[in-house]
Amino acid sequence: MNYSLRLQTLRARLPKLKCDALAVSHLTNIGYLSGFSGSSGLLLLTRDAAHFITDFRYKSQAQNQVGAHAEIVIAERGLWREAAKIVSKERLARVGFEAEHVSVAAWQEIQKLFKTAQTVPTTRAVETLRLHKDADEMAILRRAVQIADETFAEAVEILRPGLSEREVAAAIENGVKSRGASGLSFETIVASGGRGALPHGVASEKILEHGDMVTIDMGARFEGYCSDMTRTVCLGRADVQQKEIYELTWRAQVAALEAMKPGLGCKAADDIARGIINDAGYKKNFGHGLGHGVGIDIHEAPRLSRLGKGQLAAGMIVTCEPGIYLPDFGGVRIEDMLLITENGAEVLTGTPKPERLLEL
Ligand code: ZN
Ligand code: ZN
Repeated sequence: MNYSLRLQTLRARLPKLKCDALAVSHLTNIGYLSGFSGSSGLLLLTRDAAHFITDFRYKSQAQNQVGAHAEIVIAERGLWREAAKIVSKERLARVGFEAEHVSVAAWQEIQKLFKTAQTVPTTRAVETLRLHKDADEMAILRRAVQIADETFAEAVEILRPGLSEREVAAAIENGVKSRGASGLSFETIVASGGRGALPHGVASEKILEHGDMVTIDMGARFEGYCSDMTRTVCLGRADVQQKEIYELTWRAQVAALEAMKPGLGCKAADDIARGIINDAGYKKNFGHGLGHGVGIDIHEAPRLSRLGKGQLAAGMIVTCEPGIYLPDFGGVRIEDMLLITENGAEVLTGTPKPERLLEL
């Protein structure tokens, strides 16, 4: 990862943020900018330097992970107090902080410590950089997707009536770890039969039954990055309505992903899939957004939904995951991960996506 470049890019944005310095306190963002993986740190970026403040427990870890691109400062009495010393020594007048990640109580404390320097709320300063994945991130994300694909194929092999949802989830967790993932990107969803109507139905004790549709939503966390995919299959012969909602979801999913390209609005992408589902009479049964960005966090910007803002751009990695959920009956969701390219989108997920509901 080119941490120096990330730090430099953010520092170059300070004038735009109308700040002399920016204090990054959100650990995920610190990890993204500097490679630090510990649990105590504060990055203070000024127009001419990057200071990384941590405590004595992380002294050697900070030197190893961050030492090459930032000056390491070991705080004696609190990270923000140490930052305040630098702020006063360098006579910084306006210091930005991450408004989305600092509590009101913490901010009041910071203001006291900073004395005459003004604290300036900033929003999404680092998240804006994280929107666009670089080549290193893409390579890692591709592997995370591949691990999920391989594990899903294995899970489908064992699916049969009599197995509990939890047993399927356990096999998936084992599968991603045995392929080099550090774990799951999120708790695996295995929602069968009527439970399929719960979009976030994490695996339960429920036993899979003949005739159930089974929705599996899963992902692997590999080298700090997440993958995310969903497929719905049927145990035995599917009935007419199961087939209908599957085929409709498939059409909505494919139509939306075929339209994805730089410049398409995040709301417009959602509208494409939603329009198809609404027109078929299932308006009330697709109650979540079309998709989301994926990276270090399983859900990150951009949001593809009715409230989605902004547009797709090359280098973003997003999901496309419409679903239809019928209370007490069951549900279908189909989810792929895509890379937005210069003139379209590349589907990263390699798991087959049959046009007709797969009957096992
Ligand atoms: Zn998912
Ligand atoms: Zn998702």
